[in-house]
Amino acid sequence: MQVYLNNKLVPRAEALVSVFDHGFLYGDGVYETMRAYDGVVFMLDEHLMRLYRSASLIGLTVPPDMNQLKNAVYETMGANSLKNAYVRLTVSRGYGPIGLDPDLCEVPTFVIIVEEMKDYPKTYYEQGISAIISGTKRNLRDAINPQIKSLNFLNNILAKIEAKKAGAYEAIMMNAAGHVTEGTISNVFFCTDDVLCTPSVGCGILDGITRNIVLGLAVREGLTVREGEFTKDDLYGAKEVFITNTTMEVMPVRQVDAVRYGVGEVAKILHKVYRGEVRAYVTNVKGSGPSLWGYE
Ligand code: PMP
Repeated sequence: MQVYLNNKLVPRAEALVSVFDHGFLYGDGVYETMRAYDGVVFMLDEHLMRLYRSASLIGLTVPPDMNQLKNAVYETMGANSLKNAYVRLTVSRGYGPIGLDPDLCEVPTFVIIVEEMKDYPKTYYEQGISAIISGTKRNLRDAINPQIKSLNFLNNILAKIEAKKAGAYEAIMMNAAGHVTEGTISNVFFCTDDVLCTPSVGCGILDGITRNIVLGLAVREGLTVREGEFTKDDLYGAKEVFITNTTMEVMPVRQVDAVRYGVGEVAKILHKVYRGEVRAYVTNVKGSGPSLWGYE
């Protein structure tokens, strides 16, 4: 396996970062997780734009040329002969003396890891996953804004630990005001009386790229969509619940705490049309020429 590390591809065993890297010392950095289908990275522009946003929110400079980043992503995929891949792009503050001051680090560390995309178990989609509402609250927007996709993931990890202890797959976090926010690695949707609901960005969530696509598709499918503030009881009272992210796409939730839901039609339909959207995207990118994805 080849890893892209600071402008070059290196074998996995040589893909090493200093213990003085501020990503390691302080979780000071940002990242993106992407998914490639049939050689094409889905929503690459959107992920890179979000990376730039995250970086700018922490005052970190990422190579400004977006095509350079795209080429690096495709070069890494090509070097590993991968077409259906998990792609992780990480940028940390870089190597520097101990101390919080970002200016101690001169050059950001830039890493791209690609791995073969392993499908989630079919049962997750057929029967749904279980979730808890965690006692761990989501970071406040004016503490660590969840819109910054940062390397500092302890908030989510603490909630994940709670989920594991409870035998659940995902933990849904509330904010300090008692409103539903998101899962540890996913956005949350639920349906009540033909309305598809999801917490608004103002609740303190990462505005997921999958969430955004699903919202658009839901409107196209004729559903009424509501982004807003919802309580735990709204979620418990739902007919159907599902979560979304780049790798899992649309995944039904069969249970939140002690409340059970049927694996619903809405999640199934939206997953199907989401897949259609992916196919159209891949065809379109391939049709537009080999410049961006030219690694057969
Ligand atoms: N929320 C959190 C906390 C996440 O880590 C993720 C995964 N990136 C998401 C939501 C979903 O975002 P996306 O659809 O862009 O993968």
